[in-house]
Amino acid sequence: VFRSKLEFFASAKVSTSFPHPQLPEIAFAGRSNVGKSSLLNALTRQWGVVWTSDKPGFTQTINFFKLAEKLSLVDLPGYGFAYAKEEVKDAWEELVKEYVSTRSSLRRVCLLIDTKWGMKPRDHELIELMERSRKPYQIVLTKTDTISSIDVARRAMQIQENLKLSKSLVEPVMMVSSKSGAGIRSLRTVLASIARF
Ligand code: GDP
Repeated sequence: VFRSKLEFFASAKVSTSFPHPQLPEIAFAGRSNVGKSSLLNALTRQWGVVWTSDKPGFTQTINFFKLAEKLSLVDLPGYGFAYAKEEVKDAWEELVKEYVSTRSSLRRVCLLIDTKWGMKPRDHELIELMERSRKPYQIVLTKTDTISSIDVARRAMQIQENLKLSKSLVEPVMMVSSKSGAGIRSLRTVLASIARF
């Protein structure tokens, strides 16, 4: 499915403009600068062609893409931008909460975490929201090329253990580097299994 043509099909600033849910959907979330656009580019190999996203913190929109008529990929606005104003934070929260809690076609949220920095309070908030809304999610550790492979493994284990104890809807942690390409194929395989046949 990741070989299919990628198409942008909708953009929403408010929940009333979410497109009609038709395809199984995978959403990508994470702090600004976590490597989300790079990952989407590595996964689809067409992202940059279809989309040149505006800079982090300013665009509070949810953008919808599809691969053939099989899978929808959703780019959630990045959060945790240091100089975002309170209003911007509130708007982000409302929009993402609405999306995660009401979206019936949402099959998985990939929560991107920078391997070097680990999880922050707002990442945990998002996890709580997904648990409350009963939406399956998965942690994707990004930029694994920036630290040693032992530290990457350690980080993955620490997160896996932490979440396993208290959370029910979490899928196994994946590790990727958009720069070296490590883990990209595995992630593609895992996500492709969500697509409509
Ligand atoms: P976004 O704000 O989450 O969309 O993040 P970007 O994809 O724009 O990446 C933010 C910064 O991290 C950019 O400077 C990228 O070049 C860098 N980056 C992204 N992915 C990787 C990676 O896998 N390895 C390394 N070393 N840097 C990365």
